[in-house]
Amino acid sequence: MKNTLSKALLAPLALAPIVLAAALGGAGCSQDARARKTAAGQSARSSISATGKLRVVATTGMVADLARRVAGEHATVEALMGPGVDPHLYKPTAGDVGKLSRADLVLYNGLHLEGKMGQIFARLARRRPVVAIAAKLPKARLLSPPEYPGAHDPHVWFDAELWSRTVARVVEALAEQRPASRAAFARNGEAYRGELLALDRWVVEQLAAIPKRRRVLVTAHDAFGYFGKRYAVEVVGLQGISTTSKASLKDIKRVADVIVARKVPAIFVESSVPRRTVEAVQAACASRGQAVRIGGELYSDALGPRGSGAETYLTMVRHNVRQIVEALR
Ligand SMILES: [Zn+2]
Repeated sequence: MKNTLSKALLAPLALAPIVLAAALGGAGCSQDARARKTAAGQSARSSISATGKLRVVATTGMVADLARRVAGEHATVEALMGPGVDPHLYKPTAGDVGKLSRADLVLYNGLHLEGKMGQIFARLARRRPVVAIAAKLPKARLLSPPEYPGAHDPHVWFDAELWSRTVARVVEALAEQRPASRAAFARNGEAYRGELLALDRWVVEQLAAIPKRRRVLVTAHDAFGYFGKRYAVEVVGLQGISTTSKASLKDIKRVADVIVARKVPAIFVESSVPRRTVEAVQAACASRGQAVRIGGELYSDALGPRGSGAETYLTMVRHNVRQIVEALR
């Protein structure tokens, strides 16, 4: 699929994950990291089962969901990061360290998504199998922020076809720990991969309802670069405006220019962006005669909470796409 995304528009999105870990120190893509961490601690308190099943500990909900689908009845899979938790800033609690060190297998996204967990993965890897499921994806498919040579955008799950390519790595990782169940893992993996590829086609079909000139996703978050590339949607980020400092007029103008030029009817933001920033974008557009409203909430770096209709990877993608189509068509 041809990518209509211009490099100039992509850059601020793609570099954000690395910026977050390295430079902004809490601003940007994340919400209040401490609050989220507390929520994760509460949701991850259940004990790992000792029923002869493999004990798998995963970082994000998306990775855990994939592992559950592949492992089936042969493993218990626990996610460290609950709904609303920002993986870029997540620091493992003492309880997490205990779970990780008791796990038979640790699965994480990789590509520096879990920016604060590098040291613990390195330590764990001396004693336990620790697998970054996105680490061996084809380099040609990865987005490379030009500002950060050698680094890749880690948000690979936003391209369902690309995400489906991580299934094989999970099948292999599980089979290495439980060779007797290899056939079951392979079967489950094949079935799930089929669902992911069907989802990929569904996204293409749904987005076709949006006229081409209006296929512009304006969002605060860095996560949608792969979505834009795979599904021919321009992604325009407010990212780079710090959540702690005043909005940059230059960024607001840049985003407003696109909204007005393309007559974009809705923009998508996250609660991490101050209301005044959103209002400034709306005002900048209104002053030029373009009304723009706030689209629905998109889930990006974490699955939705129970009852959200976005509790699994498949339903999260469907939720996001429905919100986007509803607001832009
Ligand atoms: Zn992110």
